[in-house]
Amino acid sequence: MSTLSPGFVSVSPAVVEELQGIVGYEQVLTAESEVEALSKDCYWYSPVLKDRLEQRRASAAVKVSAVAELKAVLALAFAHDLPVTVRGGATGNYGQCIPLCGGLVIDVTGLDKIVSIEAGVVTTEPGVRVVNLERAVREKGWEMRCLPSTWVKSTIGGFISGGSAGIGSITWGGLREPGTIRRITLLSMEAEPREIVLEGAEALQAFHAYGTNGVIIELQLGLAPARRWDQIAITGPGWGEVTAFAARVAYDDAIPKRLVSLLEASFGASFKPLRKWLPEGHAFIWLEVDESATAGLVAEAKAKGLNVSLVIPHSEPKRQPMLMEYGWNHSTLWMLKAHPGHTYLQLGMGPNFAEQAAQLQARFPGKIHLHFEFVRGRSPTGEFGLVIPVLIPVVEFVSEDHLREVIAYAQSLGIFSSNPHTCYLEEGGRDLGFAAQAALKRQVDPKGLLNPGKMKGVAVTPALAEALPRFL
Ligand SMILES: Cc1cc2nc3c(=O)[nH]c(=O)nc-3n(C[C@H](O)[C@H](O)[C@H](O)COP(=O)(O)OP(=O)(O)OC[C@H]3O[C@@H](n4cnc5c(N)ncnc54)[C@H](O)[C@@H]3O)c2cc1C
Repeated sequence: MSTLSPGFVSVSPAVVEELQGIVGYEQVLTAESEVEALSKDCYWYSPVLKDRLEQRRASAAVKVSAVAELKAVLALAFAHDLPVTVRGGATGNYGQCIPLCGGLVIDVTGLDKIVSIEAGVVTTEPGVRVVNLERAVREKGWEMRCLPSTWVKSTIGGFISGGSAGIGSITWGGLREPGTIRRITLLSMEAEPREIVLEGAEALQAFHAYGTNGVIIELQLGLAPARRWDQIAITGPGWGEVTAFAARVAYDDAIPKRLVSLLEASFGASFKPLRKWLPEGHAFIWLEVDESATAGLVAEAKAKGLNVSLVIPHSEPKRQPMLMEYGWNHSTLWMLKAHPGHTYLQLGMGPNFAEQAAQLQARFPGKIHLHFEFVRGRSPTGEFGLVIPVLIPVVEFVSEDHLREVIAYAQSLGIFSSNPHTCYLEEGGRDLGFAAQAALKRQVDPKGLLNPGKMKGVAVTPALAEALPRFL
């Protein structure tokens, strides 16, 4: 059980009663074990964050099932100066939904209505699980442009507030690329919460902001025409040949695709449910390609001496095996289960990615296992379209300093690092608009009560500063 930090902000019994009056008795949780459970996400991926955030939790948790309830809860929290941390599926792995100084957790998974699906655009509440959203849009002939590998548990609001890219990004790029996030409607954190509508490029101010600059109540997202996807697993004993084939598919714009994952042989043993398709000692590729491309790719892989171990449709509703649930950070998850004492990094590589990765492994022998995802991103001059190999290596955890050393060496090779071992927004990745995100926070959260401490660009009040942990 947690040890309360100095300055921990408690929710008083009188406020608990008021909350019960708003959402009902059952929807307010105060028992320490229940609040503790609702105060944690997948932060333990990082041993650094595990150590720092383990003792952090809210004082009480509230589950809302209507926007009117959410408004009333925010107004009450504002009146009593209570910090508020919003929670979706809690699959974020940077401790984004761990309250740093107590207060309230608001679980928004009850805001789960899909408002409309029309002309390639879905309008939805934030608490809808991504898998359900994908199913609903497919029924109308569309599909999501980008899915996290956590699509079963993640909410769409949490993905937009805490995620960045995923299955589909090899074609459509990350979530922030034009046309994907069309509109975000937020509630402000004020005496009378206002509805704020941000459209087009403006909406990005609230994207990937960890719930620090408004609470999302509605999203409008651009969709793609639905395709019939095939899943293909290709393996081979030679890392060079397997890598070359993955790159060949990733860089070929003529192949309609939404997943190209490339993994070293060392991952194979951890993927227990897939073992029969992964010969020992083979590196492997997961592909999801349009069914029209399958026969040609299978023939080409075989002609190159590679082993095609699995070809099956991506079935709807989902049926195992689902290769996409063994890519992105799910690959990391399976590896961490099999290899305690390991962790991961997130590195944006250049076109010479194979060489850069080999240099990393040579500098830290035996400590780095290679896993790439290919995404479409921007060139140094800002044009969209460049294919970027993203390395999500599983790394033996020696110490925080050792992780820093690996990152610094990677950077010296021209590799970009998005640090997954920090819960602070501005330390996690590239600056794609921190100043605009902070400006929005100043407008909508005058007391700085939304997820305090996570956004460094806005000073917190002296009272909250006292309550926040010293590792800031
Ligand atoms: C195994 C594994 C695989 C993953 N794969 C991917 C991947 O492929 N791509 C990817 O981008 N990420 C991935 N992630 C990270 C995570 O799954 C995504 O960020 C995810 O979509 C978050 O959704 P969630 O509902 O769980 O959000 P949560 O963890 O509940 O919340 C994330 C952040 O959003 C805030 N938030 C939630 N709802 C709202 C709201 N309505 N308004 C304002 N703020 C809100 C929270 O306060 C928190 O700061 C992975 C994580 C794990 C553990």
